Amino acid sequence: MKNTKKNYKPHLSPSSITQYLKCSAQFMFRKTVGPKPPSIALLYGKSVDEAINIDMEQKIDSRENLPSNDIKDAFVTEWDSNKDDTEFHKTDKPEALREIGIDSVGHWSETIAKEIQPKMVQKRLAVEFNDFDFNILQFADVITEDDVIIDNKTAGRSVSISKVTNKLLIPHDHRLQLTMYDIGYEANESIKAKSLGLDYLIKNKKPKIQQARWKPNKEDRQYVLGLMEHVANGVKKEVFIPNRNNMMCSKKFCGYWQECEKKYGGKVKP
Ligand code: SF4
Repeated sequence: MKNTKKNYKPHLSPSSITQYLKCSAQFMFRKTVGPKPPSIALLYGKSVDEAINIDMEQKIDSRENLPSNDIKDAFVTEWDSNKDDTEFHKTDKPEALREIGIDSVGHWSETIAKEIQPKMVQKRLAVEFNDFDFNILQFADVITEDDVIIDNKTAGRSVSISKVTNKLLIPHDHRLQLTMYDIGYEANESIKAKSLGLDYLIKNKKPKIQQARWKPNKEDRQYVLGLMEHVANGVKKEVFIPNRNNMMCSKKFCGYWQECEKKYGGKVKP
């Protein structure tokens, strides 16, 4: 983990920052021990992403969506080719979730897919800073012809709606991610994103999609740049603290629980 180079700058992505903030010990184990076998949640998210990417990539030139059945097939192909590498927990229900995923991407293709005309898919939006002690490495799911950056998310339950504005209450880590895309897009393309959005595919038996569109302001950007600086400092100084209070801290959800008990002591919940 130690990097003795004087000019070492961590490359931060939205997911690495979120992981550091939730549990910096988990961030450290990921870098030192390496990735663990994917969970069912990762298998699901990756299969949904792949199905959507296949449609969006070809639509850049064709300007037509693939038939819904082709998108469902892409989900199934991705799921089936990765399921043997997945670590299932005894409470997981892979067959039921596979069916939910097929219906969910089918619903996406029959509803909002038609409204999206992409110009870039899985676009690298890396930023090398001169005046900050870190760099950004990230990839945006879809960028539309009218400069809207869209991230596709899967969620176990519906996103709450504000009673005041009647808009989706975008979670903090998703705002962080969108703000980093906003900064990265302007740095790479020399134009500002028109807006940033999240398309949530909710894992319901009856397929459901929720859409949020948002634009960070100057204060949002300053906050995120400051946060990245704090995380970069923590990484450089090797400040890694186990957070046994975070929602994902359990033997089911953290693949590093054995390494964590060995290094830090105590017990991780089942
Ligand atoms: S077991 Fe909990 S405290 Fe330890 S690394 Fe994982 S999430 Fe962090």
